[in-house]
Amino acid sequence: MEKTFLMIKPDGVQRQLIGDIVSRFERKGLQMIGAKLMTIPVELAEQHYGEHKGKPFYDNLVQFITSGPVFAMVWEGENVVELTRKMMGKTNPKDAEPGTIRGDYCMYVSKNIIHGSDSTESADREISLFFNDNELVSYNKAINSWIY
Ligand code: GDP
Ligand code: MG
Repeated sequence: MEKTFLMIKPDGVQRQLIGDIVSRFERKGLQMIGAKLMTIPVELAEQHYGEHKGKPFYDNLVQFITSGPVFAMVWEGENVVELTRKMMGKTNPKDAEPGTIRGDYCMYVSKNIIHGSDSTESADREISLFFNDNELVSYNKAINSWIY
C-alpha cells in the first residue's frame, strides 16, 4: 500500500489543530501507521528541506520548523500522496481552496501548518528520515472492506 509522510508544523501544533487534521484524514478512509510529537533537530530540518537550500526563504523555514514541536506521521492508502496533497491545498494559503486544510486554517505561506510529501520518492525519503521501521505499525482495520 502507498505511504506518505505528513507533518503538522509548529504553528499547527500551537494552534491545537492536531486533532482536526488527523480527523480529516481518518474520515477520508486513510490509515495512520506511525506518529510522534517531536522537536526537529536543525540537522534533520536541513536534510528534510534540502531541496530548498539556497532559496530566499530557506533559513527562515529551517528556523521555523525547529522552533517548537511538530507532529510527524506516516499514513497509508491508495494514492495517498496525491490525495493528501489535494486535501492540504496549495502551498500558499491565499491560493488554497476552502475545504482544504490550508484553505480553511491558515493565512500565510510560511505559516501553512502542514507538510506532505509531493511524490512517492520523496515520501520514501522523508519517512526514512523521520521514522525507524520498528516505529511503523502494519495492521488491518476491519472497516477497510467498507472503504475499498
Ligand atoms: P509544500 O510542498 O507545499 O510544503 O511547498 P514547498 O516544498 O515548495 O515549500 C516548503 C515550505 O516552504 C512551504 O510549505 C512553505 O512553508 C515554505 N515556502 C515555500 N515557498 C515559500 C515562499 O515563497 N516564501 C516563504 N516565506 N515560504 C515559502
Ligand atoms: Mg514540498
